[in-house]
Amino acid sequence: MDQLINLFNNYEKKTEELEQEKKAIKEKLINDIKEHKDEINQDFIDFYYYQTNLSSTIIEEILKLSSPLFRCVSKDYKILSHCPNCNKDKEIHFNSRTDIRTNLNKKLCPECEAERKRKNEENREYEKIWSEKRYAARIAEINRLKYMPYKEYLKTEHWQEVRKAALKKAGYKCALCGSTEHLNVHHRTYENRGDEDIKDVIVLCQNCHAKFHDKLQEVE
Ligand SMILES: [Zn+2]
Ligand SMILES: [Zn+2]
Ligand SMILES: [Zn+2]
Repeated sequence: MDQLINLFNNYEKKTEELEQEKKAIKEKLINDIKEHKDEINQDFIDFYYYQTNLSSTIIEEILKLSSPLFRCVSKDYKILSHCPNCNKDKEIHFNSRTDIRTNLNKKLCPECEAERKRKNEENREYEKIWSEKRYAARIAEINRLKYMPYKEYLKTEHWQEVRKAALKKAGYKCALCGSTEHLNVHHRTYENRGDEDIKDVIVLCQNCHAKFHDKLQEVE
C-alpha cells in the first residue's frame, strides 16, 4: 500500500513539474517572439504554423502580440487545432487573422465541416419537400371544407373555431341591434369558405339574421 501511495505522490510531483516546465517554455517562446518580432519571416511562420503541433493556447498568445507575424502570411492559415466536433487535433483552415482570433476553438476539421455542409443541404432539401407537402395538404383541406354540403360544414371543427372567434371579436353582441341573445354567425360571403377571413362573417341575433335574409330575398 505504501508503495502505491509513493507511486501516486511521485506521479503527482512529476505532473506538476512537467506543467511548470511547459509553462516556462511557453513563456520563453512568447518572450522570444516578442523580442524577435521584427526578424520574423516566412520560414518562422512556416515552422510554427505548418510543421509544429503548436497548441491553440500558444497561438492565442502569439495573436495578442501585435507583431508583423501575420501580415506576411499567405491567405490560407493551416493550424493544428482542436476540432470541437470529433475532439481530434487536426489541421484546420482559417482565411484571416481575425478568423483565427474569433474561430480558433470553434472551427470544425475539414471532415466534420464537409459532413455539416452535407447535413445542412439534406435538411434544406427535406424542409423544401415538407413545406410543399404541407401546402398541398392545406389546399386540399380548404377545398374539402369549401365544397362539402353546407349542413355538414357547420358541424366541422373548423367552422366551430371561426364561429367562436367571430363571437369573441363581436363581444357576444348582435352587430345590428346589440342583443346578446340567440346569436348566429352569418356568412357575408361564401367565397372563402373553409379559410374565412374575420371580415367574411358577421354576428347577428336570430331576429336581425331573419330580417337580413328577407332583405336579401327582396333584392333578389
Ligand atoms: Zn472533426
Ligand atoms: Zn339583432
Ligand atoms: Zn345568414
